[in-house]
Formats: sequence, structure tokens, C-alpha cells
Amino acid sequence: MNDELAIDEPNSAASLGSAAPPEELAPDGLPVTLPNGFTRRQIAEAISPRIQELILLPTEKCNFRCTYCYEDFELGKMSEETQRAIELFIDKRMEGLELLKFSWFGGEPLVAKDVVLRLSRYAKQKCDEHGVKFQGGLTTNAYVLDQALARELISLNQDFFQITLDGWKEAHDVLRQRADGRGTFDVIWNNLLGLKALDLKFEVCVRIHVRRDNIENLEILMREFALAFQGDKRFYLDFQHLRDMGGDGGKTIENPVSYLELIEIEAPLRASYHQALRALRGNLANSSPPNIVSDTTASIPVLVKAKNSGESAGSQRASEQVVGEPYICYAGKPNSLLIRSNGRIGKCTVAFYDDRNDIGVLLPDGKLSLDKARLNSWFNGIEDLDEARAGCPIGGIAKEIKTHKVAFVGKSI
Ligand code: SF4
Repeated sequence: MNDELAIDEPNSAASLGSAAPPEELAPDGLPVTLPNGFTRRQIAEAISPRIQELILLPTEKCNFRCTYCYEDFELGKMSEETQRAIELFIDKRMEGLELLKFSWFGGEPLVAKDVVLRLSRYAKQKCDEHGVKFQGGLTTNAYVLDQALARELISLNQDFFQITLDGWKEAHDVLRQRADGRGTFDVIWNNLLGLKALDLKFEVCVRIHVRRDNIENLEILMREFALAFQGDKRFYLDFQHLRDMGGDGGKTIENPVSYLELIEIEAPLRASYHQALRALRGNLANSSPPNIVSDTTASIPVLVKAKNSGESAGSQRASEQVVGEPYICYAGKPNSLLIRSNGRIGKCTVAFYDDRNDIGVLLPDGKLSLDKARLNSWFNGIEDLDEARAGCPIGGIAKEIKTHKVAFVGKSI
């Protein structure tokens, strides 16, 4: 049934509007497309108080110690008080809301799966009661993402998973180890296969880290991926160059592949993947059930590369991408907030240790206490539609920002 899964779900956030050709005029006679290719629909979604995105860090600890990681793992599991404060914040946001989105990040969010499940259950119930659409996804290493947990998450509309592989087996395990030093590939791969066996709707973005010493190995991964997932459109590949994201881990990355090199490396890898799929389709043409292999490999979702993004908590779902629109980082959207495991509020999922990204705190009663100047500084790209700053707003924020604390009662910002 996998080929039947609609990538463009009618209820997806993308359905709040649709892509439009540049020359098209809106009913009010104004052009649909704005400077630098942004669309009015895109900007409306980024600033609408009827949408709320919460990027939630249920713990900042991790069961892995990837050599290149930029995090310090100091903050542990979200306290009971902060979890309750998030529930109260959700209560306050229900009025007038149309879409609530969760993005789970960490640390490894499923190390604190009880927090993920509790808050997802609460939010789903509230959204169901108020007729609000609720969706969510996780950036997870997938080490504990077995079928039972995946089923439970998907039943709570947490049905998007960004899962990273750093190569096939040996090339992966040399960088992606557990805290005790053991490799992680086999467990992640088995959990991916477990996901494939589920007869459910979800999306998995497999993020492939490209580095100079794993390119040959990635050819193996392409063939194995084609064989194992057989064109299942719920799974798609997102190639990223491994790069210094800060911290001690970032310093271990020498001579990283550049963005332009990545584009050159990606094309033959994708070709290998499609070639393996075509061979498989040829071999199985007369013997396989009709849905095992895609009718056309060209229909497998390919994520559009966001050339101006620094790093993001989760790739966009393929079903939400509108080809041709410039990327807007969630950090620059007024309706997106990061809630750290200690209740501090931020915007960006990379600059955890940067004061510019510490914009306030979630209070125990669910209200936010925000530093308005710091908050507003994140909107520089949206304000002037500068493509680079919209794609990665922290680059446009001065190091020193005058601070001005304000209380916020939870409706919109
Ligand atoms: S502001 Fe830049 S570094 Fe931070 S999450 Fe957005 S794209 Fe990534």
C-alpha cells in the first residue's frame, strides 16, 4: 500500500495555501509573489497567529556521542513543572488557533519518550476538543524507535521522522557511537525496516551526511536503501554536508565538503539509487505485488535544498515543500518558539549557547516572559525579505542587543 500514500495530504499545512506562478494576482489584485521569490501565502503562514509551532526539547541528554555533535548534554529531562507549563500554554493558545505543530528535538527526544508521549497526548486531546489541526515530528537518532513506539507516536499525529545516517555500517559507526562507544547502525537500520513494515501513513526523511571519506561507502548505502525501501514514497533522502556546527564536536571536522561540492556529489549518488531501483523493478516486474516498487522512480520525493539554511531541527516534510519558494527558517517566524528542557525560550536549534538565542522563559502558569528586543531581532529576514537572513536569521542579529523584558499572556507574539 505504500505507493498509495499521499505525500500531499489534503490536511497538510501546505493546504493552507498553494504554490502560485509568479505572475499570478491574488483576488485583491496584488501580486502573489513578493521580492526574492517569497510568496504572500508563505509569509502569511510564517506570521499568522492562527498557527503555532513549538520546537520542544524534552531532554538535552543523548544516548549517542556522535563525534561531530555541537551540544554539551548538560541539561537533563524536562521537569514536571515545565511540562505542566507547556500544557497551560497550549490551553491559552487554543482560542483562534487553526494549526498546532510540534517538532521534537534534543539531545535525543526519545530518551525522554514519556515526556514526548505525555505532551503529544495532551495537545492532541486539546486540539481535538477545539477543532484545531495538530501535527508533529521528531528529529531522532531512531535508536529506540521500535514499531510499538512508532505506532503510538503516529497515532498521536507525530508522524514525521528525520533520521540521520552517516554511511553504510562501518562508515556510519566510526562517527555515530553510543555513549558507551558501541556502534549504532544495525539498530537504526532495523528500526527503519520496522517502520517500513507498518501499514500506516508517515514520512521519514533520511538525512545522509556526506564527508570526503564516506563517498564510496555511500554508493553501498544507495544500493542497500533502494533494495530495502523499494521506492516506498514514505521514505526520502536528504543529502547534507557534514559541517562544523560549533562546540567541541565541530572542531573535529576537517576539510568539510562545501555546499557546491555537495551538489556535485549528490547527483551521482541519486543516480546510483535510481539505477538500483530500476534494476530491482526489472527483476521483480513479473513476480512482485503491484505496490512493492514505485511505478516510476521519478516520483520518489526529493527535498529541495534550502541553500540559505544554516541548520534546522527537522527537514521540512516533502509534502510541505513548495518548489521555488525560498527557505524561511522557523527561527525567524513569529509563530515558532523553541522550549528548552529547562523552560528557557529560544528560536534557533543550533546556537544553544548564544545569548541572542535566550529570549525568555516559560512561567509555571503557562505565560511567557520574553525579552522583546531579543525576540524582535529574529524577524530581520521576514521584515525586509532578505533571502539569506530569512534562511538563517541569526546571521543578521547583532551580537549585542539591548534587552527589554515584557510579560506575554500567551495569545500571539
Ligand atoms: S537561525 Fe540559522 S542556525 Fe539557527 S536554526 Fe535557523 S538556519 Fe539553523
